[in-house]
Amino acid sequence: MIARVTGMAVYLCHQQPELYEHDAAVVAAAPGRVLLDRSAFHPGGGGQVSDSGWIEHAGGVVAVTGVEIVAGTGGDEFWHLLADEIELGGEVLVRVDAARRVRVAALHTDSHVLNALVFERFPGTLVTGAQINADGTGRMDFDLSAVDNDVLRGLDAGVNDVISRGVEVHSVYVDATEAGSTEGLVRSLSVAPPPTPDGKLRLIDIEGVDRQACGGTHLSNTAQSAPIRITKVENKGKRNRRIRFELT
Ligand SMILES: [Zn+2]
Repeated sequence: MIARVTGMAVYLCHQQPELYEHDAAVVAAAPGRVLLDRSAFHPGGGGQVSDSGWIEHAGGVVAVTGVEIVAGTGGDEFWHLLADEIELGGEVLVRVDAARRVRVAALHTDSHVLNALVFERFPGTLVTGAQINADGTGRMDFDLSAVDNDVLRGLDAGVNDVISRGVEVHSVYVDATEAGSTEGLVRSLSVAPPPTPDGKLRLIDIEGVDRQACGGTHLSNTAQSAPIRITKVENKGKRNRRIRFELT
């Protein structure tokens, strides 16, 4: 995920979302973990799980179970966590688990739509937490009082309407100052967007539905997602509502 550009990190998976396999060189290694010169793995963050996959090396294949971000002297380091306590070196082949990536990206894109519907229906509602899991389930927490839980339970119909309409999803880069002055653009749910070399902010634009800052992984069209189902609405504290949902 990391390409060193004037000391700032740029996610390779943002630049090339369809890249699931590529060569890389080991930069540093310890038993069970490795740092690469480039990687298409998304490290996760903001409630979204990281990618997983495999690394093919001179001695065989090892599974990558996740990514750990460690602050290094030259910026963040993205350590790939391995399923075996082996120490890698030299040239390797990186393979991202594409099925998992797409599943997480679908659920994450759908969570933007759900967030937009809640924001529209109950203006100004803040997201207080979010989690997107690898198994096709997720949840979002909203700061919402005095709303009937049955109303929230019915929101999956609106999300599924956007899915079936096949709405285009784009990532665009804007000045951070412009983003800061637009209401609702930077909500607390977002996966913290990584800085770009020129200080731009990455926005995810679901045409006519939602536009907000996010550094996570998303689909390029909502029709690529299966419909979702809201499975549960829970009260979490006096004001928080937790909406659980899953891909069908
Ligand atoms: Zn997002």
